[in-house]
Amino acid sequence: MISIKHLSKTFHDSDGTSLMVLKDVNCEITQGEVISIIGPSGTGKSTLLRAINMLEPPTGGQIWVDGENITAKGYPLHMLRRKMGMVFQNFNLFEHMTVLDNITYAPITLLKVPQEQAVAEALELLRKVGMAQKADVYPSSLSGGQKQRVAIARSLAMHPEVILFDEPTSALDPTMVGEVLSVIRALAKEGLTMLIVTHEMRFARDVSTRIFFMNEGVIYEDGSPEQIFEHPVRSATKAFVNRIQKLVYEIDSDEFDYLQIHTGLNRFCLKYNLPEKAEPAYALINEMLFEHLRSVRPLTLRFTYAELSGETALDFMVEGTSESPLSREAAASLTPRLKALIEEPTVRGFRVKLVI
Ligand code: ADP
Ligand code: MG
Repeated sequence: MISIKHLSKTFHDSDGTSLMVLKDVNCEITQGEVISIIGPSGTGKSTLLRAINMLEPPTGGQIWVDGENITAKGYPLHMLRRKMGMVFQNFNLFEHMTVLDNITYAPITLLKVPQEQAVAEALELLRKVGMAQKADVYPSSLSGGQKQRVAIARSLAMHPEVILFDEPTSALDPTMVGEVLSVIRALAKEGLTMLIVTHEMRFARDVSTRIFFMNEGVIYEDGSPEQIFEHPVRSATKAFVNRIQKLVYEIDSDEFDYLQIHTGLNRFCLKYNLPEKAEPAYALINEMLFEHLRSVRPLTLRFTYAELSGETALDFMVEGTSESPLSREAAASLTPRLKALIEEPTVRGFRVKLVI
């Protein structure tokens, strides 16, 4: 369906400097594939999507769609716009039109669908994304998650062969990520071909038939979710998918700033969508610092979140000892409340890990 051959893109600045963002991208995409594109920021993921739909014409190589070279001079881009939908991070809805008009506008003007039919289809699509009750409102009255669901419906209204999603949930409040991901999940089940740039690793693993790990302007590793997430071949892929997010505090004395820890924890849990972990983590920190490890100073406190496995843990690390600072009684009282209690020596000392 889509064939990308030696695609490259160089941006030229007005001061004469240039930046090669896509270096040599090659891939074949067949109908019905759901491909998540993951990778560090700045590696060309958005540029690749924008090149595929010719919003950002490539500087080298070719893109073939349904047997036609869309990068050839004179290729009618309006044909491509019908085949390929795009959903952006920032929704890009028409703010001066109602939700319904946002959806019917392109079918009526570009596809010449009769008004009545366009409206009926739009309402059906709005039902599908759970937004039927908002057909007559303007986008400004919607939440981010609602706007993105409308944007998805708008894109579907053109009956595209493929939809490109560029980080569809990264501009959303964490509480709204789920509603948008479940709409995309449902589309994947229907067999729509999709390319999704996303930072939601677990979503990518669950929903995709294939993963592209992009790094340094190329598709660095390409494989099934199982291959990329469980058995990555290249070390940069391995490091990226096993990334652990951390919050670290040095506890030197009893005058540590527990308010700062509390705020930091809340912010961290909000950012990674772990709202239910903040309070239990804070309670355990207090219990550990004021009771079980009261006389153990200095120590390093870490709150960790492994994005792929979803494991969250509290690490209490002390230097210069090879024995656990935790008493047997304390360990016994903690264990029933934890997923796991791990006590292990480290290179420089000892770690007590509470998996919560
Ligand atoms: P990603 O989506 O993986 O974070 P992007 O494709 O947005 O990466 O960007 C890759 C690189 O290209 C970045 O260094 C970015 O600054 C640069 N870039 C993107 N768009 C433009 C542009 N229109 N002009 C100049 N540089 C750009
Ligand atoms: Mg991007």
